[in-house]
Amino acid sequence: MRIVILGPAGSGKGTQGTLISKKLNIPLISIGDLVRRETKKHSTLAQKVAWYSVQGLLVPDEIIIKLLVKRLKATDCKNGFILDGFPRNLNQAIELDKLIEIDKVILIKIDNKTALSRIQGRFVCSNCGLTLSNDKNTDLKCISCGGTMIKRKDDLNENAIKTRLNIYENNIEPIISHYKNKGILFEVSGEKSKTEVFEQISQVVTE
Ligand SMILES: [Zn+2]
Repeated sequence: MRIVILGPAGSGKGTQGTLISKKLNIPLISIGDLVRRETKKHSTLAQKVAWYSVQGLLVPDEIIIKLLVKRLKATDCKNGFILDGFPRNLNQAIELDKLIEIDKVILIKIDNKTALSRIQGRFVCSNCGLTLSNDKNTDLKCISCGGTMIKRKDDLNENAIKTRLNIYENNIEPIISHYKNKGILFEVSGEKSKTEVFEQISQVVTE
């Protein structure tokens, strides 16, 4: 099954993506992670990606898509995958349609107040970039790769978080309409516990 998972920062998207990945035995492809890994290589593409990162600019869609095309060709994607962090805008959604057919799009909805408090309490894996809320408060190791979980500086700045949430909202609306029109959008409430959210998603991906 080819799945796209959408949701704002703080929606639990990373955690849920990891859980679905384990349940369905298909890879979770985080675009942020893909970009970070590419910058560590020595290819021409890597140099381009690094250039944008150094300038603090968003990596252009065409480069992201090149990275994605390469990743989707890997053998572990033959039974499906979960995309996290892509598409980020309508153009990317349209480009994705040209590449491959997506079966289901899961949208995790939460209100801005919930997002804000969760972002301020979350940790990011310094190795793979997975973000987790500190709900257990004991183990600060990444559940995906075992890396060390750290706090990001921009996760503590309330205004910066609000700006990020606004950008997300503006970009996500056309993507939501796009997938609604295709009849493959499934909304789940991210306000509940991790287990309850996962139950909702499990129903969507197994029905
Ligand atoms: Zn990790």
